Amino acid sequence: MKEGIHPAYYQAKVVCNCGNEFTTGSTKKEIHVEVCSKCHSFYTGQQKTALARGRIDKFNRKYGIQAAN
Ligand SMILES: [Zn+2]
Repeated sequence: MKEGIHPAYYQAKVVCNCGNEFTTGSTKKEIHVEVCSKCHSFYTGQQKTALARGRIDKFNRKYGIQAAN
């Protein structure tokens, strides 16, 4: 194997705004993200998304907030 051709490849520590941490392969040592698979319903599948949406609707109704869409 030749060295010095590829950039250094780390097991990067990903730190999310929600406090979740996980590792992934990256050329950076540490990555900060605003959403991750734990806190963003987009990544968690349709059933969970529907549940999360229901909770948000409940919250919005409780506080009298009109849903954006
Ligand atoms: Zn997160």
